[in-house]
Amino acid sequence: MLNIQITKTTAPKEIPPVESFGHIFTDHMFLMDYTEGQGWHDARIEPFHNFDLSPACMVFHYGQEMFEGLKAYRGADGKCYLFRPDMNAKRANKTNRRLCIPEIPEEDFVQAIQTLVKLDQAWVPDQPGTSLYIRPFIIAADPNLGVRPSHTYIFCIIMSPSGSYYANGLDPVGIWIEDDYVRAVRGGMGFAKTGGNYACSLAAQVKAHDDGYSQVLWLDGVERKYIEEVGAMNIFFKIDGTVVTPMLNGSILPGITRDSVLTLCRSWGIPAEERRISVDELLEAQHTGKLEEVFGTGTAAVISRVGKLRYKDEVFTVGGDEAGEVSLKIYDTITGIQYGRLPDPFGWRVEI
Ligand SMILES: *Cc1c(COP(=O)(O)O)cnc(C)c1O
Repeated sequence: MLNIQITKTTAPKEIPPVESFGHIFTDHMFLMDYTEGQGWHDARIEPFHNFDLSPACMVFHYGQEMFEGLKAYRGADGKCYLFRPDMNAKRANKTNRRLCIPEIPEEDFVQAIQTLVKLDQAWVPDQPGTSLYIRPFIIAADPNLGVRPSHTYIFCIIMSPSGSYYANGLDPVGIWIEDDYVRAVRGGMGFAKTGGNYACSLAAQVKAHDDGYSQVLWLDGVERKYIEEVGAMNIFFKIDGTVVTPMLNGSILPGITRDSVLTLCRSWGIPAEERRISVDELLEAQHTGKLEEVFGTGTAAVISRVGKLRYKDEVFTVGGDEAGEVSLKIYDTITGIQYGRLPDPFGWRVEI
């Protein structure tokens, strides 16, 4: 159990209507420091404020940092819920181990989130589809230009209201299959949630956006032949009645939504496979009419239906107006559990 010192703001902000995501923050932030020899210490909640850091701070130069992402949901009963926060705590430590960042006990990680959300719970919006996005992260804090793991770290949690992702319902998005840049290789840090994976993805994202595609689909870093994942989402295909997603191979981020989708499909008796999928298999399935659904999965949107894919000179559309039966059912079920509208047979919902 952490002993969390709370200093409340004396100037609470007026809570604005939720609109675009990521630039408005709640009244408070969680902080905890790490010092080698002493461990994690001084868990506290303070009014949201800027950091005071040396320009030599290690994170600015060598990118030793990790982050997580989850949401708090306002139920119809007025209560606030988290979705599988223990999974974020576990994944955070996997990232930490890869980046030589000291681990945080899972129960402390979840307690920190719970305490912060409870304090700022008025910020959890209640319009349909809205939520409060929670961003825990750790940065290397030594003011030192030497290349080595830092001896000091800052663990911080900030929160930002998030509007409904689906103003237009589950509108299908266009996906750019990237055949030049790669995101990660086996042995690298593709499975870790860390800024570097995003920094190296921007060039392809810009290219895809310029061409009118909203996301990049990455191929494996060696042969550029097997499908890995989308920008900040895992990818699923329904081919001839079977749901298929790339297996976790070390270069793919193990999404919590991905795990939930696999669990749900299997509980419904829908065959769900984790295996290698080549672009060629995908093109073949498309040409023979067996590619029934394509969708991305992630905390931000839960399910993003894909309606168009581009690979080299080929552009093809997926499904017609009727398509998307399974992805819609998954979307309704996961959001139903998150907002407390449906029973929670797997014990995924955590009340604040
Ligand atoms: C966070 C993330 C995902 C999705 O993970 P969820 O736990 O489902 O939100 C997928 N890919 C990448 C690269 C990510 O960073």
